[in-house]
Amino acid sequence: MIIPVRVPAGAPLHTEGGVRRLQPDHPLFSARCPACDNPLHDQPVTLVYVGAHPDSRKAAGWMTAAAVAVHAACAGITQT
Ligand SMILES: [Zn+2]
Repeated sequence: MIIPVRVPAGAPLHTEGGVRRLQPDHPLFSARCPACDNPLHDQPVTLVYVGAHPDSRKAAGWMTAAAVAVHAACAGITQT
């Protein structure tokens, strides 16, 4: 489900795992990008951090969290 929100044009975004391309047999290959609603397919994608379960939160260090896959371009990442 896509939930449109208004954000400042320079809103920060945290991504993890770099940018990669999905193979056709990847479970997310046919999933839709939450930002543009087009299939992820073999376009460059990245993972955008969206939150963490309260029990997983820590004051410092690393924690396990949740992310969604979006097109790298939709996350503002351009590659040459
Ligand atoms: Zn997209």
